[in-house]
Amino acid sequence: MSGKTRLLIVEDDIFLQDGLRDLLTRDGYEVLLAGSLNEARLGLAEGDPHLLILDVGLPDGNGFAFCQEIREQGYELPVLFLTARDEEYELVRGLNAGGDDYLCKPFRALELLSRIKALLRRAGSMYQLATREGLNYSRLQYAAGGQCVQLTPTEFALLEKFLHNRGQILTREQLLASIWDHEGQFIDDNTLSVHISRLRDKIGRESIETVRGIGYRWRGI
Ligand code: CA
Repeated sequence: MSGKTRLLIVEDDIFLQDGLRDLLTRDGYEVLLAGSLNEARLGLAEGDPHLLILDVGLPDGNGFAFCQEIREQGYELPVLFLTARDEEYELVRGLNAGGDDYLCKPFRALELLSRIKALLRRAGSMYQLATREGLNYSRLQYAAGGQCVQLTPTEFALLEKFLHNRGQILTREQLLASIWDHEGQFIDDNTLSVHISRLRDKIGRESIETVRGIGYRWRGI
């Protein structure tokens, strides 16, 4: 399983399924697909998704009932319903069944992406309890100051190194060594700078101080 955020899409409309898969894959998610509730049960158990996108009218049952079913089983992942207009009147039922949000078809791609991000962010703050030093090892997320950010495996490895060596200057060589093993591929000096820069963008520029000619030092909380 990759370090990407996994979304399980349960949708029986093949064209919509295809479109959603392309859109969400392009946006950096790992996408699992199900066309029925039976496939959804399997995808949920085997894929361990971070978020569920759930159509309401499915060939073997109703998405609202399915949501209630998985909540009773203890699944806590965010659920976003995709509803047809004539199902809108039932939405209260869906939200009562443990759904987190909904979109009516047809919807705009950007709207879907922003809802997904919001749900993941909200859920991320709940996962903080299961982390060490704000690092969530199973989801490659970092939570601090009320924010939760998704990291790549390399960014996660770098951040872990910084957090375990607070206040110390880490040389570029030390940092390179810590990410070498993680991805099993050669990462050169320039690539290290790029990863540090991206990490700063995500967690705050001031968190990582550049020590000129030597390396970097953690300055965050
Ligand atoms: Ca449907």
